[in-house]
Amino acid sequence: MDKVSIAIDGPAGAGKSTIAKKIAEAKKILYIDTGAMYRAITLKLLNNNVSLKNNEVILETLESTGIEFKEGSIYLDGINVDQEIRRPEINKNVSEVAAIPCVRKVLVNIQRKIAENNSVIMDGRDIGTRVLPFAKYKFFLTASVDERAKRRYIELKKNGYEQSYEEVAEEISKRDKMDTERKLDPLRKAEDAILVDTTGKTIDEVIDTIIEKIDTI
Ligand code: C5P
Repeated sequence: MDKVSIAIDGPAGAGKSTIAKKIAEAKKILYIDTGAMYRAITLKLLNNNVSLKNNEVILETLESTGIEFKEGSIYLDGINVDQEIRRPEINKNVSEVAAIPCVRKVLVNIQRKIAENNSVIMDGRDIGTRVLPFAKYKFFLTASVDERAKRRYIELKKNGYEQSYEEVAEEISKRDKMDTERKLDPLRKAEDAILVDTTGKTIDEVIDTIIEKIDTI
């Protein structure tokens, strides 16, 4: 059977990962969280005190780093970093790392290889526009900044991180700005992507909307 790709893009907190994970389970296809890959590289660069201006060392670091997904978890050099990559320090730095051309080049290649070999639902910022422009299905999820910040605030609190709602909202707006204004593969809706506004909608409602459109899988 031919491999099928589903691209889900949108800003932080729009509900991409929760929804993509559930659709992957329902359709028995692989779920790839590309944001987790940018977060894992950010974690490695911060742990190794690499300057984000030093391209040469960044490239060396990329070449000597292993990023893998196993059973829904992300492994950095063989270590499960599901929790660590959600730290506020990573939230603060990830968009700067994601704007570095060599980081994008290496990660986009890995993402494309995964989609060549598997049927996937992949979420991120540039999946429909750059990583998988020929994806059979493309969705762009949005929600108001207020709702997205509330979701992230609750998630961070649940994981034991004490940040005020205002701090979380500011951080999300900053990340939105950097992600949409960067030169290379900025966050934007692919022309042929279906826009889904998740504001005020339950997870199940959004899943139903998407599943309806992909019922050929
Ligand atoms: O999806 P998540 O919020 O975890 O992504 C973290 C960051 O990684 C984003 O704010 C963005 O800067 C970067 N990213 C990206 N391209 C992707 C996925 C994520 O630039 N495909």
